[in-house]
Amino acid sequence: MRENLNVGVVGVGMIGQDHIRRLTKVLPGSAVVAVADADPERARRVAEDVAGARALPTGQDVIRDDAVDAVVVTSWGDTHEEYVLAAIAAGKSVFCEKPLATTQEACLRILDAEMAHGKRLVQVGFMRRYDAAYRALKEVVSSGAIGTPLLMHSAHRNASVPGHYTSDMAINDTAVHDVDIARWLLDDEVAAISVLVPRRNRRAGDLRDPIFILLEMAGGALVDVEVSVNIAYGYDIRGEIVGETGVAGLAESNTVVVKREGSFSGRMPEDWRERFVRAFDAELQEWLIAAAKGTATGPSVWDGYAATAACDAALAALRDGTRKTISLRERPSFYARP
Ligand code: NAP
Repeated sequence: MRENLNVGVVGVGMIGQDHIRRLTKVLPGSAVVAVADADPERARRVAEDVAGARALPTGQDVIRDDAVDAVVVTSWGDTHEEYVLAAIAAGKSVFCEKPLATTQEACLRILDAEMAHGKRLVQVGFMRRYDAAYRALKEVVSSGAIGTPLLMHSAHRNASVPGHYTSDMAINDTAVHDVDIARWLLDDEVAAISVLVPRRNRRAGDLRDPIFILLEMAGGALVDVEVSVNIAYGYDIRGEIVGETGVAGLAESNTVVVKREGSFSGRMPEDWRERFVRAFDAELQEWLIAAAKGTATGPSVWDGYAATAACDAALAALRDGTRKTISLRERPSFYARP
């Protein structure tokens, strides 16, 4: 086991820089030694601020660099496959931001490569699984305290999104979190999916926003997912599970509520960085510990594949307005549930 893991980061935009801050200033056990970005000037600027880090021309250069023990992939989703496959080929542990890849075929190529390697190397950035509130919700559901889960309501609300955000990303980049957390909370796979589009938010420009997704889980529970990405008031992640004898939901995450002049109020997180700061810390800490042993734990390639397969089906459902069924490959014992 390595005492100090030398990490290379591919893609140093918003979350790449946030994970570099986490690796260099918050968590023990690693150093960031190489970075790359589609924008070489951005890579250079980021490397300049990290002692001991070099900016390399491409992500592939980072992955094959001898000084790099393990890799963080935080470029755009449709570039993840190339980098994750290269990391597996190099035998290096890799933390890949969600989505694992933007098509199920790409996810299966990664799955085949990891299985051929013979042990887990990939952790997917489904950080909600590390959030204290979601963990408490899972505990309640698993304890049987509300009976068998029948329904789940999930809402994913962003105040706004960057200019390069596309309508499809509401599904394969945003709702992919809700799909994963529903699978995890209900311990089940998605069997069918439908998508409805309500009246457009006038703040959304050309984006199809909001959207409403209905997941039919294999065990019979239904999950509705609202994705609203121009909702102005803040970043608001909601989840509630309705069981046979009770209901359990995420509480408001405020530590302080202010009551004055006949009203009460609390703070809304601005974005995912604020809402999930502890969850991001916890997932990367877990990755560092596993990567130091040359392996990976946490959300797996199977989880990345199952979530993307559901998102692929949702995009198809949206295109022709029909419900789509999802048939996953048989789950290999390599990815057995923990
Ligand atoms: P971003 O700010 O646009 O950063 C992505 C960076 O990757 C940009 O600097 C981009 O350069 C660069 N890039 C694009 N293609 C590349 C390539 N082939 N090789 C190397 N670098 C490349 O986006 P972001 O918000 O950080 O998101 C990055 C990833 O993290 C996405 O998969 C996203 O879904 C995920 N994410 C996850 C969460 C979460 O809640 N877990 C939150 C935010 C983001 P250019 O701008 O020049 O193209």
